Amino acid sequence: KKKIAVMTSGGDSPGMNAAVRAVVRTGIHFGCDVFAVYEGYEGLLRGGEYLKKMAWEDVRGWLSEGGTLIGTARSMEFKKREGRKQAAGNLIEQGIDALVVCGGDGSLTGADLFRHEWPSLVEDLVKDGRFTEEQVTPYRNLKIVGLVGSIDNDMSGTDSTIGAYSALERICEMVDYIDATAKSHSRAFVVEVMGRHCGWLALMAGIATGADYIFIPERAVPHGQWQDELKEVCQRHRAKGRRNNTIIVAEGAIDDQLNPVTCEDVKNVLIELGLDTKVTILGHVQRGGTAVAHDRWLATLQGVDAVKAILEMTPETPSPLIGILENKIIRMPLVESVKLTQSVAAAIESKNFDKAISLRDTEFIE
Ligand code: ADP
Repeated sequence: KKKIAVMTSGGDSPGMNAAVRAVVRTGIHFGCDVFAVYEGYEGLLRGGEYLKKMAWEDVRGWLSEGGTLIGTARSMEFKKREGRKQAAGNLIEQGIDALVVCGGDGSLTGADLFRHEWPSLVEDLVKDGRFTEEQVTPYRNLKIVGLVGSIDNDMSGTDSTIGAYSALERICEMVDYIDATAKSHSRAFVVEVMGRHCGWLALMAGIATGADYIFIPERAVPHGQWQDELKEVCQRHRAKGRRNNTIIVAEGAIDDQLNPVTCEDVKNVLIELGLDTKVTILGHVQRGGTAVAHDRWLATLQGVDAVKAILEMTPETPSPLIGILENKIIRMPLVESVKLTQSVAAAIESKNFDKAISLRDTEFIE
């Protein structure tokens, strides 16, 4: 009987539970045993009760639960080969040789590395005397499938990541609340949203709420000049009768000399304009709450395809990432997607912002 494990890793995101539910139930539907790994890679390292065989009813009601019920963690140990060897041993002990990982690019990079190393880790486990040759014979290869769980929508090659639309929805709600009080007092508000390397949340929230100005890492503002431009835009909007100003700042916003642009920097500029200005840092409320419908069905369709991908995979198949492109669920090589994602960060670091934007394939950043 085929045994599959599913785990969530890295930052949590709404919809991860729907993904786990889909993997568990699809696996059972196809006659597999499905295990949930609790606490991300930490759980893999600890083994034992951290690997729990799931029944159909164990995931009942999970579509509407926020966060991740099987837990997530950051694991320093898994970054070391010794840790990954321990993890491999724990999986083999349960007879598991297929793993669905729902996480961000860090988690998926780790997963792909784990797969490539697997045969040599198994060799080492035999050398160490943990298993005999016969015991490991059926487990010479590991199958990995990636699902992207991230509120930032920062993975290249897929249009949306599990959790991004939920976070966006939450941000828009909060900005609407802020706008109401801002209008009452004729104030300006500077709102910081998440997105360390990716401005998707800030950009989309800005469009959806009609913000005056948006700061994102990919469209870095001109050093020493953005202040005047910001003033001009806010004044123009005020002159047209707007009673408030809303500026959305991504956590990772920068100018074109790579200096961070913080909410305080923006606030100080608006104060120079004579505007009564407040800063709101939304923080972790953006991650919380239940998943919106988009994330529930995205996670469900992708979870179903993840199991199918595992059942179809051969040792030669590159580890797939399940994505969505133009409304179709697709599979692409996980490494390529991670590489593309990292090249966006590299483009920003080398001040090649046009390239960063073209790699983001979000046409309307321009
Ligand atoms: P995210 O998956 O959200 O990007 P992290 O980058 O923190 O979050 O990664 C989550 C976990 O994945 C890490 O704590 C670590 O255990 C594992 N991981 C990340 N990068 C690697 C890597 N290059 N090699 C091995 N494991 C990694």
